[in-house]
Amino acid sequence: MILHALTRSYRLSLLWFCVVTIGLPLLAQSVSQQKTSYPWMNPSLSPDERAVMVVKQMTLDEKITLLHGTGHPGLGPMSPLSSGSNGGAGYVVGIPRLGIPGIQISDAAYGVRSSGQNGRYSTALPCTLAAVASWDPDSAYEYGALIGRELRAQGFNMSLGGGVDLTREPRNGRNFEYLGEDPILAGKLVAQVIKGTQDQHVLGDIKHYALNDQESGRNAVNVNIDERSMRETDLLAFEIGIHDGNPAGVMCSYNRVNGDYACENKYLLSDVLKKEWKFPGFVLSDWGAAHSIAKASAAGMDHEQPNEYFYGDALKKAVEAGQVPMSEVDDHVHRIVRAMFATGVIDDPPQKSVVDVVGGFEIAQHIAEQSMVLLKNEKQQLPLDPSKLKSIAVIGGHADVGMLSGGGSAQVDPPGGNAIMPPGKGATRWGVPVWFPTSPLKAIRAKAPGAKVEYDPGTDLNSAAALAKNADVAIVFVSRWESEGRDSDSLSLPDNQDDLIAKVAAANPNTIVVLETGNPVAMPWVDQVSAVLEAWFAGSRGADALANILFGEVNPSAKLPITFPKSEADLPRRSIVKPPPANEPPPSDPDAWKKRLEGLPAFQTNYDEGLKVGYKWYDSEKKPVLFAFGHGLSYTSYTYSNLKVTAGERVGVRFTVKNTGDRAGTEIAQVYAGLPASAGEPPKRLVGWSRVKLNPGESKDVAVELDPLFLSIFDTARHVWLRAPGDYTIMVGGSSESLPLREGVSLK
Ligand code: BGC
Repeated sequence: MILHALTRSYRLSLLWFCVVTIGLPLLAQSVSQQKTSYPWMNPSLSPDERAVMVVKQMTLDEKITLLHGTGHPGLGPMSPLSSGSNGGAGYVVGIPRLGIPGIQISDAAYGVRSSGQNGRYSTALPCTLAAVASWDPDSAYEYGALIGRELRAQGFNMSLGGGVDLTREPRNGRNFEYLGEDPILAGKLVAQVIKGTQDQHVLGDIKHYALNDQESGRNAVNVNIDERSMRETDLLAFEIGIHDGNPAGVMCSYNRVNGDYACENKYLLSDVLKKEWKFPGFVLSDWGAAHSIAKASAAGMDHEQPNEYFYGDALKKAVEAGQVPMSEVDDHVHRIVRAMFATGVIDDPPQKSVVDVVGGFEIAQHIAEQSMVLLKNEKQQLPLDPSKLKSIAVIGGHADVGMLSGGGSAQVDPPGGNAIMPPGKGATRWGVPVWFPTSPLKAIRAKAPGAKVEYDPGTDLNSAAALAKNADVAIVFVSRWESEGRDSDSLSLPDNQDDLIAKVAAANPNTIVVLETGNPVAMPWVDQVSAVLEAWFAGSRGADALANILFGEVNPSAKLPITFPKSEADLPRRSIVKPPPANEPPPSDPDAWKKRLEGLPAFQTNYDEGLKVGYKWYDSEKKPVLFAFGHGLSYTSYTYSNLKVTAGERVGVRFTVKNTGDRAGTEIAQVYAGLPASAGEPPKRLVGWSRVKLNPGESKDVAVELDPLFLSIFDTARHVWLRAPGDYTIMVGGSSESLPLREGVSLK
C-alpha cells in the first residue's frame, strides 16, 4: 500500500515536474513564438506599417471590439466582459488571437485614481494647476513620468490625465485639474506631462477637447465662440500640447461647440485635429459624451467610452447597412492600434509591481515646494525664524490633521483614508472632500521645537482670535474644495472663513494666511494680514513642503498661472450660465445616462470675451486685479537689465537678471509681446520664459528664442497662422504686471 502510494505520488510529482519544466516553457515558447512570428510584432517597422498589417487580419467583430468600452458602474449597462477590467475607469477588450492586448484605462490627473478602492497605493501629487505654477517643463515631465510608473505598477496601460481646458471661467470646478489661463504655458507644460507618462510605455491622453470650460450643464451647454478666438485660446493649448506631447488619445468633451456636440463636431475633430494638426492618434469620447453613430464616425470620433451604446452592435449594423463606410471603421481601428505600437504598450506591456512610495513622496514634495506661490509678504513676515518665536497659533482648515485635495474623477485615494473621517469613515466618495493625511500642525511643530504651537479649529471665531492674540504669529489655514461636476457661485471662501481671517488679523498683526484652493479666491481681508501663501491642493507631502517654505528652508519661486481678480464684478460674466432645471435629468433618474447619451436640450453660453482670456481680459478692460498672472514673491529680490531684441524668423530676446538679495533663488523671468495694432489683439501675451537660478549677488544673461507660432495670429480666411507685419513691443520682467524692460522691434 505504502509502496503503491509512494509510487503514485512519485508518478504525480514526475508528471508535475514534466509539466512545469518541459510543458509550460514549451507552451510559453509557442505563445511567444506565435506572438513574435506575427509580422506586425517586428518593432523595427513603423507603428503605421504594423497597424496596417494587423488591421487587415481583423474581422468586423474584432474591429468593433476595439471601438468601445465595457461599461462603468452607474453609467448604464455593464458588459459581462468588464470582468477583465483592472478596476479603472475603462476597459477595452483586446484581440489575443492577433496579440493585441486589452486597454486598461485609469484616471490619473494628479495620481492614479481609485487605488485604495482596488487595494493599491498611489502617490498624490500636487494638483496640475499647482504644478504649472512652477513653470518648469522638467518637473512637468517628472510629474507625468511618476504617474506613468505608478499606472504600470498597478497594471494599467492608459492614462486619462492631460486636462488642459483654459481657465476662462475662474469658478469652474475643474480648474485645479487644468493648467491655468495661458494657452502657451498650459500647452508647453501639458506636453511634458504627456511625454513623461508615455515614456513609461503607457498610452497618454489630452482632454477635454474642447471648451469644456464650465461644469454647470456640461452635457447640454452649447458654447458659442468665433473661430479666431477659439483657435488662439483653448485650441492653441491643445495644438501645442498635441504637437509637442504626441498623446495617444484626445478625449472629446461633453459640451457642444457652435451647435454640435464636441464628440460629433466635424470642425473640431476632423478639420482641425486630424487634417490641420495631422493628429495620428485616436479620439475617445468622454464617459457618456458620444451621441451618434454615423455623424460621430464621419466627424472623427474613433472610440466610445464607457459603453457600446453607439459603437457596439449598432455600429456593426450601420456598417452592414452601408450607413458607415468600412474605411471609417478601419481608420478608427488603425489609429488605436497604431497608438498602441507607437507608445510601446504592445512591445512592453505593464508588469504589476510595488509602487515606489518613498520615491513618490520625494517627487511630490519637490513639486509642491516649486508650486506654492507667495502672494504677499509684508514686513518680511516670512520666512519665520524659529529662534525668535515663542508661540505660534495654527488656526482652521483641519490643519491639525491634513490638507485638502481636489475631487471628482481626479480624486486620488489617501492612504489610510480621509484624514477628517466624514460619515462613512475613510472611504473616498464622490462629492465628499478629502483631506490627505499630511499635517501642517505637525510639520510646523517639527520646525519650531522651542515654540508653543497650538491649534484652534477656527469654528468659533472668538476662541480662534483668543489663541491668536496671545501668540507671536498666527497662521490661518483656509480652503475651498473643488470638484468635477460643480462650479462655484462666487469667488468667495465658503463657511465664514473670510470672517475668521478678519477676526484673527484684528487680534494679531502678524497673521499669515495659507490658502488651499484650486481656483482664485477673493480676499476682502488682504490688507489686514501680513502674508498670504497659495498652497493649492498640495498632495501627499504638502505639509512638509509648506513648512519648508514657511521657515525658509525652501525659497519660494512659483508664479501664478491664473489671475486672482478682485471680485466677480470684474469677470467677463457676472455668473456662470446654468441650464434650466428641466433640461437635466435628476441624479436619481435611473435612465439619466441614456437621456444624456440621446442628447439633452441645449442652452447657450456665449464666450464673447473671445481672445481676452484671463490676464488678457483684465489688461484690455483696464481692470486692476488682486494678484496678476505671473506674480509670485521670493525671499530674495531680482533686478532686470540689458534687454536686446533681434528680429528674424525666430525673434531673439536677451536680458540680464541679478539676484540682489542675500538668499539663493530661482526667478521665473517672463517675456511678453505686444502685437502691432493692426493685429487686433489684447495688449500683451506671454511668449516665453526662463527659470533662472541665482546665488546671492549673482547675475546671469538669459536668452529666450521666441517660437514663431507664439507671435502669430490665426487668419480665418486662409486658415493659417501668420505673423502680422509691423511694430512689436517685447516686455520682460517678473510678472505680467511688473515688466521693467521694454523694446520695440519691427517684424516683417
Ligand atoms: C470625466 C473625465 C474622466 C472620465 C472617466 C468623466 O466624467 O469628465 O475627465 O476621465 O469621467 O472617469
